Amino acid sequence: MREILTLGRYFKKRFGQRVRKIPISLQGFTCPNIDGRVARGGCIYCCNESFSPSLVKINHLGKQVKMHFDLKENPILDAQVQQLKEQFFWHADFHKEKFEIQKYMIYLQSYTNTYAPFETLKRIFDEALNLPNVVGISIGTRIDCVSLEVLDLLAEYVKNGKEVWLEYGIQSVFPKTLELINRGHGIEDAQNQFILARQRQIKVCAHLIYGLPQENEEMMLHSLREVIGWGIDGIKLHPLYVVENTKLAKMYKNGEYIPISLEVYTRLILQSLQEIPDDVVIHRISSGAHDEMLIAPKWCFDKNIQMRYIRDRLREVGLEY
Ligand code: SF4
Repeated sequence: MREILTLGRYFKKRFGQRVRKIPISLQGFTCPNIDGRVARGGCIYCCNESFSPSLVKINHLGKQVKMHFDLKENPILDAQVQQLKEQFFWHADFHKEKFEIQKYMIYLQSYTNTYAPFETLKRIFDEALNLPNVVGISIGTRIDCVSLEVLDLLAEYVKNGKEVWLEYGIQSVFPKTLELINRGHGIEDAQNQFILARQRQIKVCAHLIYGLPQENEEMMLHSLREVIGWGIDGIKLHPLYVVENTKLAKMYKNGEYIPISLEVYTRLILQSLQEIPDDVVIHRISSGAHDEMLIAPKWCFDKNIQMRYIRDRLREVGLEY
C-alpha cells in the first residue's frame, strides 16, 4: 500500500508533530472579479458564504468596507486584526482541547487574500505569524493578484523560519472554460507566477476543479498534467458543486449544467493520485457545502460519506489516503 502524501502526513514529517490548518475569513476582503476591477459577478459558482461559513457569522464590524489595492487607508484594519485573533483562538483552543494539537498554520481562505493595500496585508500577515504556536501561513489567492512586493514580503517570513504557502485558484487551464466560468483572467502568466513564488522558497499549491461546465475527463486530467509541469509543491482537487444564489445554480435549474457524479469524480481522483509526483503534497481531494446552500450534486452534502467512498476505491488500487 502506498501512502499518499496528505497535508497531515507532510506536516508531521516537516514539523515532527501534528499541525492544524486554521481557516480565517476576514470581513472587508473581496475579489477583483467581484468588485469590478476585472469583472463583476464573480466566478459563476462563487458564493463565498458557502465556502467560508464563518463569514456569515461576522457582523460586529459594522459597515462593511471592501479592500482593494488603491485604498489609502483601511479604517477597519484594527477590527480585522481583532477578528483574526478571535477566530484563531477559538479554533486553536478547540483543537488543543479535543485533539491535543500544539501547532497551527493560519489559512486565509475567503475571497482573494492578497487583494488589499500592501500595509493592510503586511499587518495582517505579521499579526497572524506572531500568534502563539503558529508555524506558518497559507494564503488563498488568484494568479493576477500577487505583486512582487508581496512576494518579497512573504520571502522575508520564509527567511525567518516560517512556512508560507500561496494557494492559487487555477481551476482549469482551458481559456474557453475560464471564460465560461467568468474567471476574469487567462492562464498565460500562471507558470511565471509559480516560478516567481518558488524562487523565493514560497510553496505553491494549485487548486483545480473537476466537473466544470463543458469539460470532459481528458480535459480535467490535461489541466492536472499542465500544472504539474509548471512545478508545484501542493495541489487541491475538488468537485464543482452548485450552491444557491449563483449563475451556476441558474444553469443547473435550466438544465444547462449537469454536475459530475461521485463515480466519475472518484475515477479522476484515482488517476490523478497515480500521476501526481510523490513529493507533491495533496492538500485536499474532497469538498462539500452546508445543507441550506447546496443544490447539487447530492453526494457533496456529506464530506465523510464522500471520503469513505473515495478512500475505499483508492485502497482497491493500493493507495492509502
Ligand atoms: S476568484 Fe474566488 S473569490 Fe473571486 S469570484 Fe472567483 S471564486 Fe469568488
